[in-house]
Amino acid sequence: MFDYLIVGAGFAGSVLAERLATRSNKKVLILDKRSHIAGNAYDHYNEDGILVHKYGPHIFHTNSKDVFEYLSNFTDWRPYEHRVLASVDGQMVPMPINLDTINKLYGLSLNSFEVEQFLESLAEQVPVIKTSEDVVVSKVGRELYEKFFRNYTRKQWGMDPSELDKSVTSRVPTRTNRDDRYFTDTYQAMPLHGYTRMFERMLDHPNISIMLNTDYHDVIDFIPFKEIIFTGPVDEYFDFKFGKLPYRSLEFKHETLNTEKFLAAPVVNYPNEHLYTRITEFKALTGQQHPKTSVVYEYPKAEGDPYYPIPRLENAELYNKYKKLADETPNVHFVGRLATYKYYNMDQVVAQALTLYKKLTDKAEKVADK
Ligand code: FAD
Ligand code: UDP
Repeated sequence: MFDYLIVGAGFAGSVLAERLATRSNKKVLILDKRSHIAGNAYDHYNEDGILVHKYGPHIFHTNSKDVFEYLSNFTDWRPYEHRVLASVDGQMVPMPINLDTINKLYGLSLNSFEVEQFLESLAEQVPVIKTSEDVVVSKVGRELYEKFFRNYTRKQWGMDPSELDKSVTSRVPTRTNRDDRYFTDTYQAMPLHGYTRMFERMLDHPNISIMLNTDYHDVIDFIPFKEIIFTGPVDEYFDFKFGKLPYRSLEFKHETLNTEKFLAAPVVNYPNEHLYTRITEFKALTGQQHPKTSVVYEYPKAEGDPYYPIPRLENAELYNKYKKLADETPNVHFVGRLATYKYYNMDQVVAQALTLYKKLTDKAEKVADK
């Protein structure tokens, strides 16, 4: 008899498996329909021996000391601050938009103060910021919005920024200084030997059994367990009872090139050209030395594996119906990006899983006290 059946071996499922097994001495079965652990953070050495991220670039960053220290139990780190260039008007310019982006794009030599005034002169008045269009035009005006955000977003999400919640483009700041880092979090680093190695160490415990290539539907009736932790799509768990929750998918085109370096930055974004949104060069993220280089192109798609919940009001309303049902379902706990329909980064999923672990242990203590 397992204390917990955990569906999904990504961050959400693996953090809970690790905590429950090592801290609460629970017997855990973690299963995944894929052939590997680590969920979307899975990385592996490709046939040329280059470490690549199968499901697109995963860059770790967090402001949470707790999350960083927790993961540090399972990996050493390589300090890494992410940088991105955008291909706009035939030039490669820093993204997020900063002082150098504006100067390069318009052939100017403004200082920080002047660029602030410049952007203020372009910004549109938006009384209430609701959508992803509002966020950008209220900061940098319509022309820069069109150059950097509108088409990228239409490609990535299959809809206009005006149809998406403000939280989507709010992920990307605007700067008037020369800081060209993509993130400004306190902790920014890559797991020294990759994500999969980190997950292997998390799950290496006698209380944890792992089943891969296994869809939970196929085994749930045969496995004895007390409680479920579910990290797959919440609408799927409830047989799409209220209708399908929309997720955005991607197709990843991996390529290895016979050259040592390919891109001018670790990631190059293409807002206005090509069917793909961005190209990533993995060696720039991992620091690996190799005479060849591997890159991935991301082509957004409506159908396919669910990668991104789509943040907009009508989807939040549909999700709330599932959430109510989830809250009323005894002994099943929903956690992670797909099961709580949240556009979460890895660190947020780890934090959410650690919070659920605390809730489960508090509940167990209350029962024991009675
Ligand atoms: P997942 O990793 O999706 O794990 C869920 C698992 O459940 C999957 O392995 C799936 O196979 C399994 N599953 C689903 N249904 C079933 C079933 N029926 N039976 C059995 N198993 C099932 N975050 C960052 O912090 N930095 C980044 O740079 C970053 N880049 C990203 C780039 C891309 C292209 C994508 C898609 C995401 C990125 N993220 C990034 C987000 C990050 O991937 C997620 O926050 C994190 O991996 C979510 O973990 P999870 O455990 O919730 O979900
Ligand atoms: N975005 C954009 N242009 C860019 C980069 C981002 O329009 O050059 C918008 C787009 O809508 C994207 C969102 O900002 O989906 C969030 O970007 P982020 O890089 O955080 O996306 P992720 O890495 O999660 O795919």
